[in-house]
Amino acid sequence: MPQSPCPCGSGKPMDECCGLYLSGRAYPGTAEALMRSRFCAFIRGDVSYLRKTWHPDNCPELNLADMETQWTRLEIIRSKQGLKKSLVEFRAWYLENDTEHSMHEISLFKLYKKRWVYVEPLPGWH
Ligand SMILES: [Zn+2]
Repeated sequence: MPQSPCPCGSGKPMDECCGLYLSGRAYPGTAEALMRSRFCAFIRGDVSYLRKTWHPDNCPELNLADMETQWTRLEIIRSKQGLKKSLVEFRAWYLENDTEHSMHEISLFKLYKKRWVYVEPLPGWH
């Protein structure tokens, strides 16, 4: 079977990229890798992966109906990897009425039980 490119835009085959994390074979070692894999999880509607990678204090009630957005691509603008806290700024593109739109976010990630998890969007880059 031909290898499909990873939807996160890394240019790598999915099996060697976010597929490793979504399948549970590995856990992302950086906030940016986590961000990329969560984008793929949103595309796939992988609720359990999203829960697993969300800080338990911040994780909302998630269900498949919330995941109808047709995500098309992800653009990582910048990321700052810290020891306990990391930031990733990105733009995520989606289709609505046959037109591509985008949302922009600066995301906060924290180390929780030795794993990077998504916490919340931040109003600015600090
Ligand atoms: Zn990927």
